[in-house]
Amino acid sequence: MSKAKISPKLQMEVKARDNFTCRACGYGGNANHSDYLVCDHMQSEKNLGPTKAWNLQCLCIGCNLSKGSQNWTFDIRKKAVAEKVWAENKRDIRRFFAHKCDVAFLTHIK
Ligand SMILES: [Zn+2]
Repeated sequence: MSKAKISPKLQMEVKARDNFTCRACGYGGNANHSDYLVCDHMQSEKNLGPTKAWNLQCLCIGCNLSKGSQNWTFDIRKKAVAEKVWAENKRDIRRFFAHKCDVAFLTHIK
């Protein structure tokens, strides 16, 4: 499977739109975290999801790895809320990984 190249400009656009915050776990918060965040296809490339801003979401490297080519879509996190729940989510995300990335487990994550 060939990965479509997301231009640096589009990557920055998507990360900024998503407040440099992982939509799944709330990691991040500002541009300093940019290197640990990736642009992920909500509808995966495997399922012919286009490389357009509306089909891209900001995820941290860890969440992106566990998502793989599945079609998971998360809402953009509000900055203040993300900061508040991150400490808790960090613990839950570790458990999420420990649970072999069971999607059902994500419902426990705020
Ligand atoms: Zn994450």
